[in-house]
Amino acid sequence: MTKLIPLGGTMQVVDMTTGRVEEKPSGMMLLPAAPGKCPTCAVDHPPDQPHNRDSLFYQMRFHGEHGRWPVWSDALAHCAEPLRAAWERELRNRGVWKEPEFPAPPKHETPVPADALLQPGAELNVQDPDGGPDRPGKILAVVPKGVPVEHAIADQNGQPRPCAYTLNRKRSTLYVIEVTNDDGTTSRAIVPQRHFAKGLTNAQPREDAT
Ligand SMILES: [Zn+2]
Repeated sequence: MTKLIPLGGTMQVVDMTTGRVEEKPSGMMLLPAAPGKCPTCAVDHPPDQPHNRDSLFYQMRFHGEHGRWPVWSDALAHCAEPLRAAWERELRNRGVWKEPEFPAPPKHETPVPADALLQPGAELNVQDPDGGPDRPGKILAVVPKGVPVEHAIADQNGQPRPCAYTLNRKRSTLYVIEVTNDDGTTSRAIVPQRHFAKGLTNAQPREDAT
């Protein structure tokens, strides 16, 4: 029986409802190279010669092991020095020499719900119901239902996600509003969609305090 070569690597499974991203092993397998061929690139070449960077077998296998696609410097890495340098010179002359591209760390996203009343970053005037002075506020995040509040704040402000989080268990979108107080400190309010809509409707024009 032929033994399959595990390609390794992971795939990302996205829960479309919650936006949660889970990493799982890819489970992909590759058939080994035919007998007599190089086991690394499946091409017939002496072991001291370069692998064939253009071999699909080599590319799949390399990607499985390293998480990036091979370039010629990878295919030459095992060759003895004068031979390796000669190949590099020739490939540079032909304009096919490239530096390896290392994969960027995964970027998380929390989409803003389609029916959002305001977008993250929007500025607003926060009114005191008792008639005190208005304070400047900003929408820090718009949190879809079922999504961790802290993840939405981090994602929508380009910050890394914190380990601890609280799930939005409300049946509606939440608005995280950051208010700047008179003394320069900030407060955060978390307002459900219905209350936020009511607040926007009932907002009164105010005389300038000066
Ligand atoms: Zn090879």
